[in-house]
Amino acid sequence: MKGIILIMDGMGDRPIKELGNQTPLQAANTPNMNEMVKNGITGIMDSIAPGIIPGSDTAHLSILGYDPYVVYTGRGPFEATGVNIDVEEGDIAFRCNFSTRNEEGIVTDRRAGRIRDKTEELAKAINSMKLEDYPNLKIIFKESTGYRSVLVIRDSGLSDKVSDADPKVDGKKVKKIVPLDDTKEAKKTADILNQIIEKSYTLLKDHPVNIERIKNNKDPANVIIPRGAGAVPTVEKINSKYNINSACIAETGLIMGICRLAGMDIVEMEGVTGGIDTNLEVIRDTILDKVKNSEHDFFLVNIDGADEAGHDGMAKDKKEFIEKVDEVVMSEIKNLEDVYIFLTADHSTPVSVMNHSGDSVPVLIKGPEIRVDDVEKFSEIDVAKGGLCRIRGSDVMNIMMDLIGNSEKFGA
Ligand SMILES: [Zn+2]
Repeated sequence: MKGIILIMDGMGDRPIKELGNQTPLQAANTPNMNEMVKNGITGIMDSIAPGIIPGSDTAHLSILGYDPYVVYTGRGPFEATGVNIDVEEGDIAFRCNFSTRNEEGIVTDRRAGRIRDKTEELAKAINSMKLEDYPNLKIIFKESTGYRSVLVIRDSGLSDKVSDADPKVDGKKVKKIVPLDDTKEAKKTADILNQIIEKSYTLLKDHPVNIERIKNNKDPANVIIPRGAGAVPTVEKINSKYNINSACIAETGLIMGICRLAGMDIVEMEGVTGGIDTNLEVIRDTILDKVKNSEHDFFLVNIDGADEAGHDGMAKDKKEFIEKVDEVVMSEIKNLEDVYIFLTADHSTPVSVMNHSGDSVPVLIKGPEIRVDDVEKFSEIDVAKGGLCRIRGSDVMNIMMDLIGNSEKFGA
């Protein structure tokens, strides 16, 4: 039997006035998810523990059966493996934004006008960077989804105990990176990073891609801003741990990175962008094709858009994106037979908070011989009455493995 964990990133929310005191999921017209609910068992889930605010990374680690408090070493390494960089022990990896700064060093747009095109060419320029003070330093830089990118630095004597450069809001200067402990490794790493940031501006400000953007009235991507330093962790492979053949169908580098570190196969998709404007048809067709035709028996699927709408504080967009997923993706997924589908979110991204929160998320399991409960609508409020009651992210793989027949008895 096959199993799919389908995660709608950041889908959970709180009641919103604009939507008649309903959550976006509650207000959304979701006939297909509701049909799955009527044939399934529901509940709510804390992906780490009640009240703990999960990152997408720590939530996914927990849902995939890992203890995030042990495995998580910062976001950088997960992003790096997500864009196919072969990280080595001792490497320090960072997530970066392509951003826009002015001549005074003030960040005027942290996301460089939400740049989506030609970041590959900009990345090449950074990749060619050399620092005179550090002749043995290797700089590996790669574009990720949209304005996101990844920086890996390789040299002797580096440390991940350094601060972030991200000012978090527009209108402030790029923050100077400082060592977070007293070691010479942290000091060296901070100095390298500050030099890389400064030099990125020199390399990017007159880059042809940016000249073109300025001409078209778009913010130039003229500086890189690293954050989330981390050294690469050791992770037990999920296939041997659970005796499965697993694959990941995701849009963002972060999620692909987690799955790659877990040893899962990564399914490539053309034309998906993350966010609410992504190509849901491609995601749907990829799921259907792989579930029906590949040798994989376990899938982690992540659809990104609801999280972006939550971060942007757009209630109507979030509701409409959920409706679109229901119409385009769930209308077909619901018809898959002999497959267990575990539909949930990794965390809540309430529109009112414009960030993640510790609120639990809705869960639905559909598949053969499921103990169907009497919930009829997929929403945070309705499923709280469901037969699964309240579970944690760390329960998901155990429940799934039991259902698909991959668990062994504990005891006699
Ligand atoms: Zn997330």
